[in-house]
Amino acid sequence: MNKQLTELPGIGPATLQNLNALGVTSLEDLCFHLPYAYQDRSSITNLADIAEGEERVVSGQIVSVQTMYKPKKMMVVKIKDESGFLNLRFFYFHPAQARSFIKDKTVSAFGKVTVSKYGYELIHPEYSFDANDLVERDFLVPTYRVTKGISQKKLRAFIKTAIDNYDFSESGNELTKFDKDFALDLKTALMTIHLPSIRESLEELLPGGLHPARIRLMKEEMVAFQCGMLAIKEKKHKQSAYKCSNDALWTTSIFNNLPFKLTNAQIRVLHEIHQDLEKDLPMMRLVQGDVGSGKTMIALLGCCRAIDSGSQAVVMAPTTILAEQHHLSITQLLHNNAEEIALLTGSTPSQERKKILKKLTEGEIKLLIGTHAVFQSDVVFKRLGLVVIDEQHRFGVNQRLSLVQKQNQINKAPHQLTLTATPIPRTLAMSIYAHMDVSVVDELPPGRSPIITTLLAKQNIDQLLKRVTSAVNADSKIYWVCPLIEESETLDLTNVEEREKELLNHLPQSMITKLHGKMKPAQKIAAMESFKSGKTKILISTTVIEVGVDVKDADIMIIENAERFGLAQLHQLRGRVGRGNKQSYCILLHKDNLKEESKHRLEVLKNFTDGFRVAEEDLKIRGPGEILGAQQTGIVPLKYTNLIRDSRFLESTKKIAESLIQQKPQVAENLIKRWLAGSIGYAEA
Ligand code: ADP
Ligand code: MG
Repeated sequence: MNKQLTELPGIGPATLQNLNALGVTSLEDLCFHLPYAYQDRSSITNLADIAEGEERVVSGQIVSVQTMYKPKKMMVVKIKDESGFLNLRFFYFHPAQARSFIKDKTVSAFGKVTVSKYGYELIHPEYSFDANDLVERDFLVPTYRVTKGISQKKLRAFIKTAIDNYDFSESGNELTKFDKDFALDLKTALMTIHLPSIRESLEELLPGGLHPARIRLMKEEMVAFQCGMLAIKEKKHKQSAYKCSNDALWTTSIFNNLPFKLTNAQIRVLHEIHQDLEKDLPMMRLVQGDVGSGKTMIALLGCCRAIDSGSQAVVMAPTTILAEQHHLSITQLLHNNAEEIALLTGSTPSQERKKILKKLTEGEIKLLIGTHAVFQSDVVFKRLGLVVIDEQHRFGVNQRLSLVQKQNQINKAPHQLTLTATPIPRTLAMSIYAHMDVSVVDELPPGRSPIITTLLAKQNIDQLLKRVTSAVNADSKIYWVCPLIEESETLDLTNVEEREKELLNHLPQSMITKLHGKMKPAQKIAAMESFKSGKTKILISTTVIEVGVDVKDADIMIIENAERFGLAQLHQLRGRVGRGNKQSYCILLHKDNLKEESKHRLEVLKNFTDGFRVAEEDLKIRGPGEILGAQQTGIVPLKYTNLIRDSRFLESTKKIAESLIQQKPQVAENLIKRWLAGSIGYAEA
């Protein structure tokens, strides 16, 4: 039996709570809370020898201390050694802290070297007046994901104690039988990863490196992950679902009102969905398709099939704006059945909510559209046949978890359809979604001309303002996206408020609306409505409009500080225009003096309009060290493995997982618990 966390020295109730917030609930979790980077702090570097981007310990005599409060609060401490000078720059500091920096005193600091017009700097470095605090001669210093109340140092100590106390006797060394990479014993592997000697190669230890300890843990995680996927599949196969094989009123009325013909890709995917729905096994299907490929319509037709077969259906969207919009367009298409369609979000008034819940239980509402509010525990369906999850990648872990719990409350499992625009190469999709069937909508509706994308430096904004004014007069509709809502002390980026003020110098107030996360739900809806209806022509917003928003005749997308966004996100944003027949434009407004590298990145969007191509190029530029956003956004609950970078191990680990599930189910279960703990539940969603 392993000890409880609170039995370790230094872990009281408050610390336990902080650890839990990190996802650490057991001794084992501590052992497997792996570092994502290391710092080499083995020696003090001469100021003349530092270079941009390096993390270094430096030490020097204080030459001057400058504090200022305008335009920004800031403190700059200039230091020197025999070889050169360096600035330490702070944006947050107490007066007492400022007073502690005294001329001629020696200070040591650790941080990442950046360059400004004043030379090399460390921004917000860790610092001490005793160099011994910062130098670590024997070990590479691991960096962990931490949280409030838990410092790196504390966590490091806890992990070390945890490994010393962990009972490794039952640690599944069965794996050695399957693959020689598991020959290294688990304890040594963990010790090496958590506290590598300074003699180990940092490159080999880092993500992507080939250190045997790293490979050992990574492959174990991959086996665990694949075991998890297989286990979900097995479990699903034991559940039953309502067969849905009728087309009746709902389907007919959609087709009567449909303003267009389905594309061949839509027809094919719908057919695949229909085949699943006709079985009494719960469908687990992922529909993947580029922005604008018409996934909503496919999902809606799936819902109609379920409803026509006597079930209820629910569509869950990641934002209120998107849920509103789905509700609006769906009730327009299905106006004969509008009474049986409801919208439920976090901002539905409680009286209304009560009514909806009652009607859902009684089966009067057939189609429910909403945000994660549709899966709160008191939302009970009479006969839920189909769950649609739109833009799956946008849902957080907890929301998806509650969805699974919800499903467990009903004796029949609903069919499940998941929509995503995240482009993931097919082979990879097959392993990430081993528990799902994947359909691809690989065709855009006809008549769309490719969006023309251009880059523009901010110093040329006058050109753009002229163009915007004449476009508005020619009836264009413009999205204007800014990275921030209001002015920030530390970030020099354009914000919605400032942009609105500036635009008002050129255009009347009646043309402009704004939209951002700090507005009340009703205000957001009103803003969206006035833009959609054409009352206003320019929507200045944050990235709240990133996913799913559909305004047919919007034709210009302007994105400020485009260099700050990832390519996947820019592609999503761009996908808000070019949805009708108007020639559409995307203008990537970037800071002046853009680095060559960043420019090259933005040019990918200029050169490619297809999401898969953009993703591929993105991968080439960023190198395999970064995955397409899928991993960061939590589709894949992996901490250590990067499914793209490490994909060469997928086949072999899958085989091991299959044998384990068959021959050693207990070992498989332990592995799943160790590596995926709470997260396996959400992979299920
Ligand atoms: P996404 O796949 O990004 O969710 P949507 O479902 O929002 O795309 O569809 C984008 C737009 O294309 C919507 O305005 C939708 O009405 C329209 N659309 C969908 N299918 C077709 C089609 N077959 N022909 C023409 N327009 C279509
Ligand atoms: Mg969509």
